[in-house]
Amino acid sequence: MIKIQLPDGSIREVPKGTTALDIANSISPRLAAAVVVARIRALAPIAATTTEAALEASEEAMYSSHTAGSDAARIVDLNLPLTEDVALELLKENDPAAIKVVRHSAAHVMATAILELFPETKLGHGPATDNGFFYDVYREVPFTEADLAAIEARMADVVKRDEPFVRVEESREKGLTDYAAQGEFMKLHFIERFTKPGDEISLYKNGAFTDFCRGPHVPSTGRVKAFKVMSIAGAYWLGDEKNQQLQRIYGTAFFNPKDLEAHFKHLEEVKARDHRVLGKQLDLFSIQEVAGAGLIFWHPKGGLIRKTMEDWMREDCIRRGYHMVFTPHIMRRELWKISGHEENYGENMYPPMELDDAEYRLKPMNCPGHILIYKNSPKSYRDLPQRYAELGNVYRYERSGTMHGLLRVRGFTQDDAHIFCTPDQIESELEACIDFAEAVLKTFGFHQFQVELSTWDPSDKKFIGSAEKWDNAVGSLTRVLDRKNIPYKTIPGEAAFYGPKIDIKLVDVLGRLWQLSTVQFDWNLPARFDLEYVGEDGERHQPVMVHRALFGSVERFFGVLIEHYAGAFPMWLAPVQVGLVPISEKHLDYAYTVKARLEAAGLRVELDTSNNKMQGKIRDFGLQKIPFILIMGDKESATDSVSVRVRAKGDEGSVTLDAFLERATKLVTEHSMEL
Ligand SMILES: [Zn+2]
Ligand SMILES: [Zn+2]
Repeated sequence: MIKIQLPDGSIREVPKGTTALDIANSISPRLAAAVVVARIRALAPIAATTTEAALEASEEAMYSSHTAGSDAARIVDLNLPLTEDVALELLKENDPAAIKVVRHSAAHVMATAILELFPETKLGHGPATDNGFFYDVYREVPFTEADLAAIEARMADVVKRDEPFVRVEESREKGLTDYAAQGEFMKLHFIERFTKPGDEISLYKNGAFTDFCRGPHVPSTGRVKAFKVMSIAGAYWLGDEKNQQLQRIYGTAFFNPKDLEAHFKHLEEVKARDHRVLGKQLDLFSIQEVAGAGLIFWHPKGGLIRKTMEDWMREDCIRRGYHMVFTPHIMRRELWKISGHEENYGENMYPPMELDDAEYRLKPMNCPGHILIYKNSPKSYRDLPQRYAELGNVYRYERSGTMHGLLRVRGFTQDDAHIFCTPDQIESELEACIDFAEAVLKTFGFHQFQVELSTWDPSDKKFIGSAEKWDNAVGSLTRVLDRKNIPYKTIPGEAAFYGPKIDIKLVDVLGRLWQLSTVQFDWNLPARFDLEYVGEDGERHQPVMVHRALFGSVERFFGVLIEHYAGAFPMWLAPVQVGLVPISEKHLDYAYTVKARLEAAGLRVELDTSNNKMQGKIRDFGLQKIPFILIMGDKESATDSVSVRVRAKGDEGSVTLDAFLERATKLVTEHSMEL
């Protein structure tokens, strides 16, 4: 008999070999139908089976028979015979680990279908991903859309057959021989690479299909209730273009058809908000082949939004005690050697340009420029903090094919700032940076964000600076976050080599996370450039330096804004705020008067003077997602009023022009999110 401890603390004594599914069934058949997978933790040390790491997408995690310490919790098949005393949790659909097990099981179902239809196919690996699963396969003939549809239809058969997933263990040697005989070169590679001679390897069978895999899986194929084959992409075996070209077939799976449908709805919303599509539709920006990939042209309307963003940022910087500075785009190579960029960041920089006096390089970062301004005159503790801000254009090399709209580009504008201060000032400076970041998010309409604190790994040699320095810096950052009551996740080993940092990820209207703002400590550059200030004690000291960017990249932030608002920008950001529609030609004079009045109040107005019908004019302005459309006919002309249509709300009837002006200007000056 073995002891099974349930989450309520109760202990059951059951015969050795009892499965989690048996236990679920003994509690209730309903529970047994609802559980997906089990998590066990040894009450006494047990032999390793499968760790949670097996749920990750890496090949090693999927195949290695060497697992973490035996006290770790493991996700196991519901039908794994339990042979030792364990604490047992039955995971239902609400556990995040469960969906990955369903998705990975769906990958087996897909592989089953592929081999039934195309037996010549060889299998690579088929992990669950964040949104679904994929299977890498090799077949000389590329799969077509029709093939994918056939595979999906056959998957439905495999599911209907409800074949149990059966775990079989056999010797590594037998596995190698069998796979070699079948020409399964990828499986062979995985066994050779991730297991050792003498190991037992695990295979999972469902029906006639066998896969080398560590598991876990759902109990049977019938548990894969809602799935879809999505797309196909090419990949080289082991990422090497000299190797065979694989086909990576993507699919997704959910617990039920309702969740699957919701996922597709989400994908549609994502597509409808694609900033590249909206950028074209609303004539905001372009990227042009003739100029090069990853280089952005801001059109008049996009340019106006950018100007509004930048004006807000500059004014707020000045209000918060920053100095606005400007630094050159190209600087001597020598400078990048001193700063260490040449050595540490060279891969991301454009090649040097040979000029008559020296070699120059395009700037990938603004820091050295700001440092030269600091260093240009002696500083005393009374001068600190010095806060230099710049909307600085930087150029970074991205491989061709990796660019993506405004999100991944080769030239962009950072709202960059560097703060030079004394150690005593650091905490209040950090707090001010966090306040500023919060103000940016709130002003631009984001209400949720997540914070990550990246710290060092003392055993990793890449991190420079003493333990004392790191402890102090991390201490300051955590104290500030705690004082401001901001929850955060600590990520050890993820800091920049020169100091810890805080990253702020905003959450957009679709719940997607975007990494934008960052606040970073640095004790490397002040040392490299011999920065100093004269302290109260009359001695020379090295200032502490903070890098911070809040939009991050103006281009990227703009891309996120477009998607967040689906192009329907709030009034204060909208490139055209009011569209004017005279009903007929005889109302044109009055429309010009209205236009002049609105423009005098600082509003951005477009008047449709075409001969189009009123409905057509309204529709055109609607397509531009303009917040207000004002319609002017006989009645309005006679009474100095306008008939108001509000974006997404519709007709609100006539008001006096004065009343409209007051409402519109208030929305703008308050940076209101109401419209
Ligand atoms: Zn598997
Ligand atoms: Zn910097």
